[in-house]
Amino acid sequence: MEALQNYQLKQLKILVKHAYETVPYYKQKWDELGITSSHIQTLKDLEKLPVLTKKELLANVNYLHSSKEFKKQFNAVTSGTSGDSLKFLREESADSFNRASIKRGYSWYGVQPWEYNGYFWGFNFSGLSQVKTKLLDVLQNRFRLFSYENDNLKTFCKKLQKASYVHGYSSMIYQTAKMILEKDLPKPTKLKMVKGTSEKIYESYRDTVVKAFGKPIISEYGATESGIIAFECPYGNMHINMEGVIVEEIENRIVITNLSLFKFPIIRYELGDYIELLDTSELCTCGMKHTILKEVTGRIGEAVRGVENEYPSLYFYYIFKNLATHNKLKLTYYIEQHKKGELLFYIEEEITTNQVKLLEKEIDKYFKGDVVYFIEKGNGESKRNGKIKSFKSYI
Ligand SMILES: [Zn+2]
Repeated sequence: MEALQNYQLKQLKILVKHAYETVPYYKQKWDELGITSSHIQTLKDLEKLPVLTKKELLANVNYLHSSKEFKKQFNAVTSGTSGDSLKFLREESADSFNRASIKRGYSWYGVQPWEYNGYFWGFNFSGLSQVKTKLLDVLQNRFRLFSYENDNLKTFCKKLQKASYVHGYSSMIYQTAKMILEKDLPKPTKLKMVKGTSEKIYESYRDTVVKAFGKPIISEYGATESGIIAFECPYGNMHINMEGVIVEEIENRIVITNLSLFKFPIIRYELGDYIELLDTSELCTCGMKHTILKEVTGRIGEAVRGVENEYPSLYFYYIFKNLATHNKLKLTYYIEQHKKGELLFYIEEEITTNQVKLLEKEIDKYFKGDVVYFIEKGNGESKRNGKIKSFKSYI
């Protein structure tokens, strides 16, 4: 752990000096606060630097680029799940570093990235774009699921027999696992890893995925601007990629410093997720000393509006977590708000009247009668329709 932290400090000092000297935004901000790069002598000193919000980042993209030109630099674009897409330049070495970080995670499962793999990534393909996509897939030795139609699914399952790993949207992995079991399709036998990305892995997914794929669904956590933040080890712990990022937890929010990106330095950036870190003294059986990210508890985003007060959408996480822990009730949920003081809960599973009562009890515990709510069960998936967030406010 100490070796890792020494390495982080060394990288941080280089990064901060570089940012101060070549990035106008940081130079101006830190000058205003009377901070220079020489103020960073320990990892804790990082706290002297101001936090960069997503709003500030988006408004100052030009001023956040380094004036230093790198031999090879590429355009990077974030998918903008919250509607705010970000475009920036990333140098080649940062790109390679990130690929290496992913490769390291794969190696824990004995997987080489170029091995035959199944990919789950959205359905919007038609005509020419489907041909192009297929060509790109061949180059990467992967195949993907294009729809849940019977023929498509059967072909996909046939290919799965030869695949060594699958990866992509967690909801699609789950949906496919469910259909393999329902339709009694052949189960893959050679999979070494099932990796969910970009979406929340609901507790309700886990059993089904193991039954269908023979392996638990593991998670990779990261973002384009931060690089890989954490990767789950075979013992079920998400280890922070400490060589690549410094992670801080401030009032349950994740704050990221990317140690490998120099063209567009990301220093104390509030990524927009709620997280929980494990106490650093707790070690994992796998032997790695990297800090453990206990949980990504949700996207920071729209608040829930009650009649009297506002509430963080994080409450939904606790409501469903409690049901899973205390009542063994694992639900797949999606919640919408269209009116102040009103919530619509869509639950994918069929649940009994008693289970509805348990859910109501949890909801009341957090919102204390400040919202009225409607629970619709047995059709959540169609409502969620590939949406990444589990809560959407239309107010
Ligand atoms: Zn571990």
